[in-house]
Amino acid sequence: MKVLIINCGSSSLKYQIIDSESEQVEAKGICERIGLDGRLTYQPTGGEKEVTDAPMPTHNEAITLVLKALVNPKTGVLKSLDEIQAIGHRVLHGGAKLTESRIVDDEVIAAIDEASDLGPLHNPANLIGIRACQKLMPGKPNVAVFDTSFGMTLPEYAYRYAIPTKYYDKYKIRRYGFHGTSHSFVSKETIKFLGLDPDNSKVIVCHLGNGASITAVKNSKCVDTSMGLTPLEGLVMGTRSGDLDPAILQYICNHEKIDINEMLRILNKESGVMALSNGLSSDFRDLEEAMDNGNTAAGLAIDAFCYRVAKYVGAYVAAMNGVDAITFTGGIGENAGIVRKKVLAHLGYLGIAMDEEQNMKRGERFILSTKDSKVTVSVIPTNEELAICRETVALVNAQ
Ligand code: ADP
Repeated sequence: MKVLIINCGSSSLKYQIIDSESEQVEAKGICERIGLDGRLTYQPTGGEKEVTDAPMPTHNEAITLVLKALVNPKTGVLKSLDEIQAIGHRVLHGGAKLTESRIVDDEVIAAIDEASDLGPLHNPANLIGIRACQKLMPGKPNVAVFDTSFGMTLPEYAYRYAIPTKYYDKYKIRRYGFHGTSHSFVSKETIKFLGLDPDNSKVIVCHLGNGASITAVKNSKCVDTSMGLTPLEGLVMGTRSGDLDPAILQYICNHEKIDINEMLRILNKESGVMALSNGLSSDFRDLEEAMDNGNTAAGLAIDAFCYRVAKYVGAYVAAMNGVDAITFTGGIGENAGIVRKKVLAHLGYLGIAMDEEQNMKRGERFILSTKDSKVTVSVIPTNEELAICRETVALVNAQ
């Protein structure tokens, strides 16, 4: 089955065509600057990347251009659009109602809309993408895969915040967790890769990218996750603060005469390793280079990032009363050996021993721990599009 995977942002749209039998990507690309002017990037696998400037007032025009590129007689990978049998959409927030991937119908659309309150930047864009596909490819099944659904198996004592119950009752304020598609994919792949028992295993997945989160996965179910109601909680990230004392918000707002919206913007956009490195960069390649050249603020940023990861790993060992495997993924987890080394340096008490030579590897699947390490540590590149493809095919086949 050929599946079109769509990941809509407010002004961008990433897409891939995946053949579900071979699990190979046949073409991929991105539409950028939607609503401004518009630029389409299209690349068939093994072929040249094409970049075309084309007007895209809305996501409808963007998807129309993607479909045209896919059936272009010269460079297209499809003979006709009939070959697309389903469309899988990445949707940020499923709210309390959408706890697993769903074939899109009116009820699902209404629930995604309702959850827009919780994902104001993403959910409206995700809905625009779904509606555009419904319009341009009538009758084809659209499947919504939620970033929050993997976190919906948390026990109540893990997902409830210790604030008055009325806020949970009225607004469903709880821990949802994000990067669920990645955590689900990587935890399953870890279990397969290491030959663990899906029904009797304890895995910690560290998804470390610009946004970063950790999950504890016991017997294939997520039992805790570091992001909360929104993706701001948990680890130190590229530009997000992660955990902090909530009283800091009041203190800074009062002293700097800023309102809570501005404060939240600062915590989302101007904090994290970017802030700790005194505004140097949110990118670990820059931070590593600066640290190597003696920049102490860059060193502090990396150390604080790694320390927070290690603290969460410790917490999740407690959450599961043990751990069989720890997996690193995401741009930083897959590539930054220095981060893996610094995180694992805090975890010697677990009997973890790292193979220095293996740790030089990047961007591929490998075991990082030595043979006698008590916990197996591995690196498994994430593949959210493939995860969405698998979910889409499973739901469409079960129809
Ligand atoms: P996103 O959350 O945007 O999906 P990614 O998972 O793609 O992020 O991760 C992007 C980050 O990965 C970059 O900002 C950079 O910090 C890090 N990264 C990518 N490649 C390398 C590398 N070779 N060495 C160190 N860090 C890297």
